[in-house]
Amino acid sequence: MILGKCPFCSDGNIEARDREVRGKKVKLYACTNASWKSEDGEFYELTKDSTCRFKIWQNTLGKYGKWLSYKEVKELLSDESVEVELVSKKYGKKINYTKWITLNEEYGVSVIWD
Ligand SMILES: [Zn+2]
Repeated sequence: MILGKCPFCSDGNIEARDREVRGKKVKLYACTNASWKSEDGEFYELTKDSTCRFKIWQNTLGKYGKWLSYKEVKELLSDESVEVELVSKKYGKKINYTKWITLNEEYGVSVIWD
């Protein structure tokens, strides 16, 4: 399934791939020009024919209780940012945030905290 155009190369598209990391099913949203020798382990080495390295793990914001949906990734790719609900714990209390996230070439996405 194609979710949008790759923001970091000229002819790539972002597709959703089913992966399993430490026994958990997780989507890898990756550029069609990028593939890794192992996409199930913790360390990733690009294959020789990869011309791009852009990817977003669905659970990249997992520590904030956020898993990215297809819809959010689509919006991120078309608008470069999307608003999401994040949760963090402080002194045993749950705190909810509504924050914008943007594309980040290295990490997939980054949160705009201010
Ligand atoms: Zn790309």
